[in-house]
Amino acid sequence: MSEGAFQTDLFGGIKRFFSGGESEKVEEAPPQISGDGTVLFRYADRLKKSIRCRKKNFENLYELELPGYMKTEEFYPVRELAAEWARVTFKRKTASNKQKSRDLLARIWKATDQILTDIGQKPVIGNTRFPPIRPVGNVHDLNKVFAAINETYFQGELQARITWSNRVGGLSFHSKRTDPLTGEEVNLISISRGYDFENCPLYAVFGVVYHECLHVVIPPVMENGRRIVHGKNFRQRERRYIYYEQWIKWHKEVLPKNIRMMRRAKNFW
Ligand SMILES: [Zn+2]
Repeated sequence: MSEGAFQTDLFGGIKRFFSGGESEKVEEAPPQISGDGTVLFRYADRLKKSIRCRKKNFENLYELELPGYMKTEEFYPVRELAAEWARVTFKRKTASNKQKSRDLLARIWKATDQILTDIGQKPVIGNTRFPPIRPVGNVHDLNKVFAAINETYFQGELQARITWSNRVGGLSFHSKRTDPLTGEEVNLISISRGYDFENCPLYAVFGVVYHECLHVVIPPVMENGRRIVHGKNFRQRERRYIYYEQWIKWHKEVLPKNIRMMRRAKNFW
């Protein structure tokens, strides 16, 4: 059988499976399937922090039951991880497969908590606190700003995630954290919400994002027991930003006013 014919058979099977009995309601979410076509996703609102899996009669086809909130687009990577878990779970129970299964589950729930936090919902496991990553602000979209800076000044090679600061009146900073999905260390750039104002021109938000990006490529150095964060090399590279003077002026004159306004508003409410 050719691969194409196999696919047709497979999807025909899935269609029959989901349409079920004739009296069944059709209002359920559209069926979804893992990227490689081996795992069917079903959703149950009663599930909160568990997933379950059965093997279907079809060769290499699994049915995975996921919490209802995992239907949305944001959960795509989690669904793929869960599909991988389903496949590993039905393999021979060797020590290595058991370990893989445990690791996948840990990643699934960490990533789930991260996504729930990012979209403003309560995490389900909650034993680790992840700061939410919210790049879309009221005025500026930091993902777009970062992409442009990365392309212009770093050949598009900079690896980082970016978010508006979660603290009212917080400052901009760069930090390292563990990505819950991959377990790898990632750079996180956090930008003061004082830049997310109508009075903030693009050159200013580009300036601060460029500055934080430089911290990713120029790590602090120790000199005579002192930690140098903004060394000579850093300051030289920083001046390559074409609106450097304008940004610094805005940063000194307007940003403090915006931050004061935000703090006052917070105290007032
Ligand atoms: Zn700095």
